Amino acid sequence: MPIWFTMDLDVEFDNERFGKPYGLSNPGIEKGVPLFLEIFKKFQIPTTFHIQEQANPRHSVSLRYPSIIEAIKSQNHELGLHTHFEKGYDSTSREREIASGVKRLEEKYGKIVSFRAGRYFTNEDTVKILEKYGIKHDVSPYKNTSIGNMRWYNIPDSPYHPGYKDITKPGKAKILMIPVTNKRLGVILDGSISLDLMKKGTEFLISMSKKFSQPIIIFLTTHSWKFLDPVKGDIRKDVIQRLEEYFAFLQRFNIEFMNVKTLGERWEQGKFSPYFLEAPDLLGRSLSSFSPRRYFWFSKHILFYRKYLKYILFKKID
Ligand SMILES: [Zn+2]
Repeated sequence: MPIWFTMDLDVEFDNERFGKPYGLSNPGIEKGVPLFLEIFKKFQIPTTFHIQEQANPRHSVSLRYPSIIEAIKSQNHELGLHTHFEKGYDSTSREREIASGVKRLEEKYGKIVSFRAGRYFTNEDTVKILEKYGIKHDVSPYKNTSIGNMRWYNIPDSPYHPGYKDITKPGKAKILMIPVTNKRLGVILDGSISLDLMKKGTEFLISMSKKFSQPIIIFLTTHSWKFLDPVKGDIRKDVIQRLEEYFAFLQRFNIEFMNVKTLGERWEQGKFSPYFLEAPDLLGRSLSSFSPRRYFWFSKHILFYRKYLKYILFKKID
């Protein structure tokens, strides 16, 4: 069965990361994006760049950095929308933020179909607004986390159409929710997880593809500031090396690489139904035995105890 790999990147003002006021300089955008573009070109990774746009033009990446957007477009990557909602944002404020972003991007760059909420904080109101503005894919679900008032615990591991009353459950909404591959499988760029675990998680997903009659999707997400030192703003060569090594590793498998738009379209065309992976919590092994998260998967899936034990003891996945 096919294995799909999708990459996306949130391009946002560095204050989101460093807790500073919106400044003049944004190394995450100015240095980070060109760096990523180079790497994506080298490994031929089609990517979706979610561009931060807020109603306030000061907080619009496309207005302040048009040349960066042009550079992304010139390599045929997809542009998506990335909007941050402050705490307590009601539906009207959410709509104001989303509408301004969609309008600004579409005026210059054509139809926008993919969206990620700042800090993954989408909700039922947001989904309705997104549909109103023609957005087709919301890539905000982040399994096994709680964000704002959202509880992303029992969502499918695959894309799914959510319910309008509860977007964590499959339902009748038109929008397609696409969860990112959860860090419990180790597929995360964050330096806190070893490259070895990332590879393990990837191998696990690939091995699962044999059991499914639909595509297995490895969905990796990151930010444009990820490769910069948070204090000095210098490029972190070790992190770049890590990403390059991971991309080189992916080349060994028969993987189809695609951006969010293509992934969404192909999922819809295939009329696949949402699936849940019986996945062990690979991250559990790297946590202390006193951490309750280590036992998260184990306690949830007690029936699969043998499989889990085998993994713990022999580091083997069926
Ligand atoms: Zn963000």
